[in-house]
Amino acid sequence: VKEKLIHAEKYHLIGQLAASISHEIRNPLTISRGFMQMMRKPSLEESEIQRYVALSLEGIDQANSIITDYLNFAKPNIDVCEPLDLNQEIRSALPFVSSLAALSNVEIVLQSREETPVIIMGDSKKLRQCLLNLTKNAIEAMPDGGRLTIETLKSHEGVELHVKDTGIGMFKDQLKSAGLPFYTTKEKGTGLGLMVVTSMLKTMNGRISFDSKPNQGTQCRIVFRQTGSSGKSASSSITM
Ligand code: ADP
Ligand code: MG
Repeated sequence: VKEKLIHAEKYHLIGQLAASISHEIRNPLTISRGFMQMMRKPSLEESEIQRYVALSLEGIDQANSIITDYLNFAKPNIDVCEPLDLNQEIRSALPFVSSLAALSNVEIVLQSREETPVIIMGDSKKLRQCLLNLTKNAIEAMPDGGRLTIETLKSHEGVELHVKDTGIGMFKDQLKSAGLPFYTTKEKGTGLGLMVVTSMLKTMNGRISFDSKPNQGTQCRIVFRQTGSSGKSASSSITM
């Protein structure tokens, strides 16, 4: 847990995040370019051409994934802070998620335990980026279908947003490492999604924690501490 906190601290500056983006995107693009250059060579075998094309496309896809995880919606270094209706924000982010969910046979359930609007202070674009990264992980954890539940509520700690899936879940070690820069268990993962979520949430007074069981699913809990309310979470789960 401590290790994770140190990493989170290290990366908490959104500015630092922005600075590393160009580097991360340039790497796979450079690789793609290299393979394209090799294709210029005369008298290549058809099989070689196909291989170079596949590798070039892979590099471009990787660059694209990094952009999706980092800055699909938000400019990381610009800070906006305004009242946001959490349920409304979730509803407006949904269209970006539902096509991915449909592809994997994932049912999406929205729930609010409150009758009145659930308000947080933050940046709508950053919140949307967080929702995208978390729901994408949830859907990716359910390749054979399942249920994605997004729930909002008010508690003594503040406003809470829960993202739950019925997917593959995580082992203890995995849970400890999730959110460290470049930690991924996916063949085409970036390992940046949760790191981005953690640092963006921080600018909105939000903290994220996970509960997960292999083969049962993962529950992600975000608490937006309202200014005025205080106290630490007594949760026994991993907090990033
Ligand atoms: P990526 O999705 O590119 O792998 P992330 O930072 O979004 O990077 O996630 C890091 C890792 O955390 C994932 O590779 C996966 O092992 C684990 N993880 C995150 N969310 C979930 C989830 N909902 N269910 C299972 N594993 C998850
Ligand atoms: Mg991800």
